[in-house]
Amino acid sequence: MTTIGGYTCSCCGKYHEKLPTSYGSPAPVYYYEAEPQEREDRFEIDDDLCVMDNEHFFIRGCIEIPIIGTDEYLIWGVWVLLSEANYDKLKEHWNEQELLDPMFGWLSTDLPCYLDTVNLKTMVHFRPGGIRPFIELEPTDHPLAVEFRNGVTIEQVQEIAEKLCGGNND
Ligand SMILES: [Zn+2]
Repeated sequence: MTTIGGYTCSCCGKYHEKLPTSYGSPAPVYYYEAEPQEREDRFEIDDDLCVMDNEHFFIRGCIEIPIIGTDEYLIWGVWVLLSEANYDKLKEHWNEQELLDPMFGWLSTDLPCYLDTVNLKTMVHFRPGGIRPFIELEPTDHPLAVEFRNGVTIEQVQEIAEKLCGGNND
């Protein structure tokens, strides 16, 4: 097993002690597409759930991509659109989510470094102990779905970190 160490960043030129392996998005893509002054009226949002216009229902989960040669994962925190019936069922069983069957959902996060991830088909797998659900991607030829099945290399994880560096993090 390889351990993931630091790297010299091609974006900012600095040495970063730790290669980031986890990225999140605090809201579904539609939130960022809405006019800033409309967001508060149209979206009800917390750390795990979001309702848009009282009729679109989202849950936050994790796409976990194995990093080849390590026992770690590249984790994308994403939002998934559920049917209203499934959302109601989820809220009813919020404290016993592990009892729920997997649910179908539409990916609702525009992932950086991948083209067109919105509306990829997923299955939401619930987990015990307040852990965010595991998001399984439909096995298509989309690059994200391919990586989900086959894993990514440490070099690819580093390339993502360099693209998303921003230049001033450690
Ligand atoms: Zn950097």
